[in-house]
Formats: sequence, C-alpha cells, structure tokens
Amino acid sequence: MVAFSAQGHLNPMLRLGKRLISHGLHVTIATTHLQPGRRLFKPSSSSSATGHDIDFLFYSDGLDGRKVDIDTFMDSLSQHGPTNLTKLIHQNYHTAPSDANNRVSNPFVPWAANVAHDLGIPCAMLWIQPVALYAVYYRYYRNLNPFPTLTDPDLTVNLPGLPPLRTEDLPSFVLPTNTFGAFSKLFSEMFGAMEKHASWVLANSFHALEADVIINSSKDLFPVVPVGPLVDPSLLGKGEEEEADGAVNLWEVDHSCMEWLDEQAAGSVVYVSFGSLATLSADQSASLERALKEGRWPFVWVVKGTEAGELSTSSGGGQGIVVAWAPQTKVLAHRAVGCFVTHGGWNSTLEAVAAGVPMVVYPQWSDQPTNAKLVEDVFGVGVRVRENGDVKMVVGSEEMGRAIREVMDGPKSEQIKGNARRLKIAAGEAVAAGGEGTSKVSVRKFVDEIVGR
Ligand code: UDP
Repeated sequence: MVAFSAQGHLNPMLRLGKRLISHGLHVTIATTHLQPGRRLFKPSSSSSATGHDIDFLFYSDGLDGRKVDIDTFMDSLSQHGPTNLTKLIHQNYHTAPSDANNRVSNPFVPWAANVAHDLGIPCAMLWIQPVALYAVYYRYYRNLNPFPTLTDPDLTVNLPGLPPLRTEDLPSFVLPTNTFGAFSKLFSEMFGAMEKHASWVLANSFHALEADVIINSSKDLFPVVPVGPLVDPSLLGKGEEEEADGAVNLWEVDHSCMEWLDEQAAGSVVYVSFGSLATLSADQSASLERALKEGRWPFVWVVKGTEAGELSTSSGGGQGIVVAWAPQTKVLAHRAVGCFVTHGGWNSTLEAVAAGVPMVVYPQWSDQPTNAKLVEDVFGVGVRVRENGDVKMVVGSEEMGRAIREVMDGPKSEQIKGNARRLKIAAGEAVAAGGEGTSKVSVRKFVDEIVGR
C-alpha cells in the first residue's frame, strides 16, 4: 500500500491493511518520511488475527526534511516519488516486483498507479473521502456538470443521488476562489491514472450510508466499491485505541481524559476536535469556549501542540479537559459523550457514525463543507453551525451554543439521536466479522482476486 503521510490518510490505509491481514494477506505500507520533529507512533504490537504485523517502508519526498509550503511539497513528491518508490520496490522485492501482488494507493499519490503499471503490478485505489466527494470531483474534473465560476459563483450543483449542492456545500477545491493549485493538478492526474491503470476503486464508506450516490456513481462513472467503515465498529472503545483499530498516531496520545470521562453522566459530554490539520482562529476558539461555558456542558477539547497552554479553559474549574491529542475512537465510544463538535474530516465523521455519536459540524475547507451537508441532510445525524441561517467562518457563541443544544436536547435531538443509533447498527452490519454485510463481502471479493481464487 502506498500512503500519503498525513494522519487522515494513514488511518484508513492502516485499517484497510488490517482487514486484508485478517484475510491472510501480507501488508506493507510505503510512505514518505514524515515531517521533521514528527514521530510515527506505531502500535506496539499487532493485534491482527494472523499475528502478522503491517510492515512500514519509507521513501524520500526529495526534500531532505526541509519544511515547505504544500504546493512545493506536492511538486517535490510527484517529481521524486515515482523514482524513489520504484527503487524501494526493487530493493524490497528481490526476485521480481510482481511478487507484490497488488498495490493499493490513495488519491494524494496518483503517480503510484503509474509506477505499479510500469512494474506490471495490478493496482487499486482507496478513496478516503465519502463517495459523494468522489462523484463531485469526478464530475468537476471531467467537465460532466456545470459548477460555479467567477461569473456565476452562486450556481447550485445538481448531481444524481445527492441533494442540490449550494456553493457553501461544495468542497473548497472546486470553487472559483480555490487558491491551492496543487490540488487541481492532483485530482486531474488521479482520475487519469485511475482510469488507465486501476482495476478497483475501493471507498471508505458503506452502502446503507450513501446508497443513492453509490448506485449512481457506479452506473455513470468509474465504479466504486465501498469497503467501510474501515474503523472497526466492533472494536470501538475496546482496549488501547491504537491497537484496537489499527491506527497510528503522528502525535503522542494523551489518555488522561478517559478517567475523567468515567466520572461524567451518560451522554452529557461535548467532545471537540478539528482533526490533524485544521486549527481554529482566536475568534473561532473564543466563541466556542464561551458557548461551552454558557451551556455548562462538560467537555473534552483537543487543542494541538503548544496552543493547548493558551486556552483558558485548560484551567477552567473542572468543567472540561483539554488534551493535545486524544484517543479519539475511545472517546467517541465512551458512554459519557453525547455530542461531537468536529471539522467534519471524513475519518472523524465515519468514526462518529460508527460510534453512534451525533455531530455539530463546523467545516473549515476541503471536503468538510460537503461532509457537513451529508451529516445534516443525508445521514440526519447532526447539524452544521450557522449564523442566522448563513454559513460563516466565525460564528458567535450564541449560535455555536444553539447548534450544540439542538443535538444534545433540542426539539430535533431525539430524531438525530435515533438516526445516529440506526446508522451505528448499519455500520456494524456492513463489516461484521463472519457476516455477509456489503462491505465485508466486497473485501472478500477483492482478496479473492488478489490471490487468484
Ligand atoms: N484523531 C485522533 N486524536 C485526536 C484528533 C484526531 O486520533 O485528538 C484522529 C481521528 O480519530 C481521525 C484522524 O485523526 O482518524 C483525523 O482524520 P480526519 O479525516 O477526521 O481529519 P484530518 O486530520 O484529515 O483533517
């Protein structure tokens, strides 16, 4: 497996790797060296059914540890990655590269499919965002539908299997205001490599969650096969987080919040986390902090790195606890947690779905606005933060508090909680070991093809 070295990319790849190991395959993950000062906190021992561990191999991104902006990083990676990955494969598969039976790459390393093709290795792609995003990007980059432009910035996008998407619901990379050129290039390359070389596109989603868009995309676009949720619902909250679900952490996990959670009433706690990349501005943090105080909700808040010390709530009279990196799946599975305030990253969203925890989504960029739309209007398991009905980057504390209340105990909360309970069951059924769930069956078919059954 070839993974982009970001937390949100490594987690689904590792989790898929663990699934494949449980079917008797051997799994190696190749990724680039991580940024300077960042360690990879790998599970100390593998809990895989076969006793095999996932091996890690590292190749160079050509930057020798230099810190650069994302566009320069992506350029360097696509310039040096193919040669360095090819070398790595030759060094590690001594007889013939085709000893590696199949390569699974994720979308941010689109050239990995070309490397696989040149070495004669069959290739699959793991789509790590919802199938809805796959449909949006595919249709955008292949010019299959009109999207907003500078002259028509408010155009509503109507796609099969999805509710009408307004500008505020679209991923930031398809908007005319997008300033990240690297991502446009990347997605175009990815769809090109996928159509030429991929035999499978697997997705971290499940049929019951996105049935309409899965059916439509598989009919009209390159077929996509859901194999998720890759986080294992049956293991959520059991044992140490890293070992329970196969994830690795780029930051050291602070488990101190677990004992504190044990002392809180069922469904009373608000868990706040914005994933590994997004950071809130001072104004956004201040609104949220005030909302939590005014609402008197006990909370666990992930504030990465040194910013933790700056948050006044860290000494906030026992109402809440601030950690730099939480054992997220364990926190979500804890009976005390009643609401997840999230940026709407897809891993976090699926983890909350698998744990049955309703969400307040405060999306920042990338796929997050679309994920927020799905959570609110398709899955019905949460609300998006708004101010007077409008989407804003900074909302007041009253609006923030209103969104949390809506999920915790407002008039719609029973319906939202009921949907969350139903989807949790469906998530478990899709992947249950020994079962015939849709995702479980798809993984088995994929493995059968790899081993030539
Ligand atoms: N995560 C974690 N501890 C934290 C915050 C996040 O383990 O304190 C994990 C979370 O469980 C998820 C991943 O980091 O698997 C974040 O991925 P996501 O797609 O939600 O967001 P991204 O970081 O890519 O924006």
